Amino acid sequence: MNYRWLKYSEDDRNRIHELGERYKDFLSCCKTERECVSFFIREAEMKGFRNIEDLIDSDYSLSPGDGIFAAGMGKTAVFFRMGRRPLTEGMNILCAHIDSPRMDLKPVPLYEDTGLAYLDTHYYGGIKKYQWVTVPLALHGVIAKKDGTVVRVNIGEDDKDPVVYISDLLVHLSKDQMEKKASEVIEGEQLDVLVGTIPLGGKEKDAVKENVLSLLKEKYGMEEDDFISAEIEVVPAGKARDCGLDRSMIAGYGHDDRCCAYSTFEAMLDSTDIPERTVCCLYVDKEEIGSVGATGMESRFFENVLAELLALAGSDSSLALRRTLARSQMLSADVSAAYDPAFSQVFEKKNTPCFGKGLVINKYTGAWGKDYTNDANAEYLARVRKILDDNDVAFQMSEVGKVDAGGSGTIAFIAAMYGMDVVDAGIAVLSMHSPCEVICKVDLYEAKKAYEAFIRHI
Ligand code: MN
Ligand code: MN
Repeated sequence: MNYRWLKYSEDDRNRIHELGERYKDFLSCCKTERECVSFFIREAEMKGFRNIEDLIDSDYSLSPGDGIFAAGMGKTAVFFRMGRRPLTEGMNILCAHIDSPRMDLKPVPLYEDTGLAYLDTHYYGGIKKYQWVTVPLALHGVIAKKDGTVVRVNIGEDDKDPVVYISDLLVHLSKDQMEKKASEVIEGEQLDVLVGTIPLGGKEKDAVKENVLSLLKEKYGMEEDDFISAEIEVVPAGKARDCGLDRSMIAGYGHDDRCCAYSTFEAMLDSTDIPERTVCCLYVDKEEIGSVGATGMESRFFENVLAELLALAGSDSSLALRRTLARSQMLSADVSAAYDPAFSQVFEKKNTPCFGKGLVINKYTGAWGKDYTNDANAEYLARVRKILDDNDVAFQMSEVGKVDAGGSGTIAFIAAMYGMDVVDAGIAVLSMHSPCEVICKVDLYEAKKAYEAFIRHI
């Protein structure tokens, strides 16, 4: 076994754990795409990044080294560090998604049954529904009111907060349930979140529901109808934790894909010297449901922002936009399935990433006969692996499990439509899409090193 850990100096090991600490803080407080965007903007502004909205149509002229950002609907964002060379020579792009599988409250969620008040949900992304019962849950999101105000919701994270909960059937009465297929053990309509049992005095009908509404009114000033224009996500409650007796791993919700989002962001912020080509970090929403919508990778958000940036740089044409995109190189920073000895039957070992062996590269993802994948160009992969080798970055190649075992996709094929070079390069995860996923700190560290090397040298 080629243990990467043994190659590290004492300083390296300290850096690995320090990165782990910063990442855990991020993961513990950023459980929605909105929270990630707010965090990144806050950090970037502290480093002098400026919102492009404040510069559009001004006479501001871009200089090499400038930090610029743009956000879309609070759920997608892009950050640029301007290079010395013209944008039309292409950019060095890191892209990750910041949405994670979860349950969203329905537009009309609240009801009462036998003195129990529930919030009804619709799950988001690919989940094993049976994993989301009997775990402490938190509510994160926003309520947008008719008067234009937007109230932030965050219940279940503070030690003094209550959590909410979805029940499962007790084993004693589960004779029939235990015979069911895993996909049917818990069905979508059973994912209702228990939120109260105390009735409101003086109410005959739905008194517990009425009491929940009065609490919401008191805390958020909301009426029941305000759920119509709310986006409230039900996510696992609690902080990310060190995992393993040796503290080598991190257990938490949302590693997919926030481990890549965080490490790409740090890689960009840490590279303070003026780059040759413009460096870009793009964070997209909706990857888990097909990259659709105004904040997903398929939207024109990124293109539109880039057009504005080009206008600020004085090359305002659709040709300039196309050239910039087509001449760019991207790492699509997304997670991969880590080899799991407990489920060895679905993996083909030679092409499966293992914990502790560094950045994971997927030349292609997809399913069956490589359906619907970006298959990265060989010449581009040669450039990427040379940079990784030259910068002493540990990496490993990956496929999504055995041929015909299933499959998955990323945003890579959408970026590829611009004609740019793109390859998937991320971090291996155990129990992907579960309420508590696990990654290895070494892989987080090597990924960040890889992203730093990429934005400097590609
Ligand atoms: Mn992902
Ligand atoms: Mn995913």
